[in-house]
Amino acid sequence: MLVDQARIYVKAGDGGNGAMSFRREKFVPKGGPDGGDGGHGGDVRFRVRQNLTSLLPFKFKVHFKAGNGQQGGGRNMHGKSGKTLHVDVPPGTIVYDDATGEPLADLTDTGEEYVVAKGGKGGLGNSHFKSSTRQAPRIAELGEPGDERWVRLELRIIADVGLVGLPNAGKSTLLAASSAAKPKIADYPFTTLQPNLGVVQLGGPGGQTYVMADVPGLIEGAAGGSGLGHEFLRHITRTKALVHVLDASGGLEGRDPIADFETINAELGDYDPELIERPMVVVLNKIDIPEAQANLPRLREHLNQRNFEVFEISAATGEGVPALLNRVGAILREIAARPPKIVEPEIRTYSLADLDEKAFSVRRTGPDRFEVNGIQIERMIKKTNFDMQEASDRFQSILERSGITKELNRQGVELGDTVVIADRELIWGIQEELEPVGSKRRTARERYMNRKSRFDDMPPADSADESTGD
Ligand code: GDP
Ligand code: MG
Repeated sequence: MLVDQARIYVKAGDGGNGAMSFRREKFVPKGGPDGGDGGHGGDVRFRVRQNLTSLLPFKFKVHFKAGNGQQGGGRNMHGKSGKTLHVDVPPGTIVYDDATGEPLADLTDTGEEYVVAKGGKGGLGNSHFKSSTRQAPRIAELGEPGDERWVRLELRIIADVGLVGLPNAGKSTLLAASSAAKPKIADYPFTTLQPNLGVVQLGGPGGQTYVMADVPGLIEGAAGGSGLGHEFLRHITRTKALVHVLDASGGLEGRDPIADFETINAELGDYDPELIERPMVVVLNKIDIPEAQANLPRLREHLNQRNFEVFEISAATGEGVPALLNRVGAILREIAARPPKIVEPEIRTYSLADLDEKAFSVRRTGPDRFEVNGIQIERMIKKTNFDMQEASDRFQSILERSGITKELNRQGVELGDTVVIADRELIWGIQEELEPVGSKRRTARERYMNRKSRFDDMPPADSADESTGD
């Protein structure tokens, strides 16, 4: 089943920093704040291309980076957003997170897109921070870093059409009668790995082609997991349309084709209810046999009543086969004309979206080390430029308002302890310059000041016991 694998690195663009700027006006020494926002970083998106058949190109190019957002400017100028990077993949590509092995996306439809790495948001410029008490805000946000990760790609063959039916219904015979001459089948890149696939070509060279799969016979109870069933059903779920083949003659055992038909549909529905919603045409095969001819009126009536499109064929003689193949081709064209879907990532940097964004946890991770986790606080620290006094102060007050400072104090944080939030290390209580750990922004020197909570605002009476330790 597996054909191809690749491992690649994707990095979305970082958001641009917000600007700190003041309007210059004649006779006015310092005008109002007019620092614009940074542009958003570009996404990295996978895009399904029909004409691709292999992951081979990823053996030669492994790193994919989208454009960074540009910095905001004065006069409320927004930074330009970074360019989205489209990475083309063949239909049938499954994307896994390389670190966790978790499947992220299953890309099957032409034109379908998947955002594999989301660009960082641009930081706000200082024009956003104006308030009645703060006329000249010397504060602007950093852009958020874009997502980055290693992903593993796996290419699976997808047949456009799956043949379903009991053993001996005539699926293999129909496939052989449908596919272009044998050498054509051998031309198909996957044939050696998947011998029961055939390429149907309509209307000669240059005409529409599609892939038809004849998979091991569906046996009763397959949906319950017995026998070959599951591997088969998984394959069938990936096709776009189904051709249900019935032996109209009832075979040597004199079976009832209608009962067989209902049995198999029930199996398909048990496995995945969506399967029976899929376009399905019914083939009454072996019409060259007299018993089949005798059964036809009854079968036709039953299937028509159930609103199925019915084709009467002889896979052995080829009678009725071209009409069937043309109709299946038309169904596939209709499906292809539907608008493609765009899949937003299921996993973001902040994957706990169902949790309260303001919720946080504080954990002692060493004798003089603490770690703080929380969606909002981690996002805020990434946007904070500690080179700016007011930005530091703002972060400081967020720590206090959110209750994080209180919780750290409760757990016994002391002067000089390290507090880790996201990938930044803060030294508690002393003014010190810090390099963020693991950060690629070496230019952004970070400084964190906690003077205020520790010394200036020493709480009076009722929390006296908290301060006795000092
Ligand atoms: P599968 O198990 O569904 O793949 O069925 P096969 O294609 O292997 O066919 C089972 C048997 O039915 C074989 O002996 C075929 O030759 C025969 N068969 C298939 N289609 C026809 C047909 O249209 N007419 C007749 N007379 N026999 C057929
Ligand atoms: Mg067969």
